[in-house]
Amino acid sequence: MEVVASSEDRNFTYIPKGFDIPSDIDYLYICSNNTIYGTEYKTDIDSPVPLIADMSSNILSRPVDVSKYAMIYGGAQKNLAPAGVTFVIIRNDMLDRVVRPLPTMMNVKTHVENDSMFNTPPVFPIYVLRETLKWMKSIGGMEEMYRRNQEKAALLYAEIDRNSLFRGTVEKEDRSLMNICFVMSEGNEALAPEFLEFAKSKGMVGIKGHRLVGGFRASCYNACPKESVEALVACMQEFEAMHK
Ligand SMILES: *Cc1c(COP(=O)(O)O)cnc(C)c1O
Repeated sequence: MEVVASSEDRNFTYIPKGFDIPSDIDYLYICSNNTIYGTEYKTDIDSPVPLIADMSSNILSRPVDVSKYAMIYGGAQKNLAPAGVTFVIIRNDMLDRVVRPLPTMMNVKTHVENDSMFNTPPVFPIYVLRETLKWMKSIGGMEEMYRRNQEKAALLYAEIDRNSLFRGTVEKEDRSLMNICFVMSEGNEALAPEFLEFAKSKGMVGIKGHRLVGGFRASCYNACPKESVEALVACMQEFEAMHK
């Protein structure tokens, strides 16, 4: 493996840009949305080599130019359905490019040739996925889903930027619409446990950041309604008022 670009130098708080993609590599892999650090590719990049993306945490959150990718894959459990299903969108010509021996189950071709029923399909998550897709279509498809996700993210980022007790951790232009990461602002770090408790008392759980980042992370996946984001914003405002 060759690392073509990385934002490790600043703790993965931005999306690398302007990097050269060597034309002699077999494929380029990206993670379109970094679930842990809260960064997201806002456009579908051009690649001279097959582009493969893990879209587990932002699949169907915005319109995507699928033709730019050789393969898109992910787990369904964040934006599409309960855990148990995974999805693969693969260009047909990629199916015959397997060069090393693979267990039958691990080869995507197996699943294509068997209509995704090589193993016993988990019918309940697949059923919920179908309902979710129908719902997305009914609200206006990806355009509307994207509009809602942008609206939710804008609400929360605006509060993070306005509220003197908090600050965002990610470069503004690369902020994820899905995983919104923030910490207590400088000098207020010690208030973090109290904020978590306060949020919990308001019924808001699961906003503790990933152990690698600390702080807070609000995961505003497709299923998260605007009302939930508004509740978190109100909670942050109340917490600020308590500490004036
Ligand atoms: C959640 C996530 C995974 C892990 O999915 P599991 O099904 O828990 O293994 C992988 N990649 C990304 C980008 C994720 O967000």
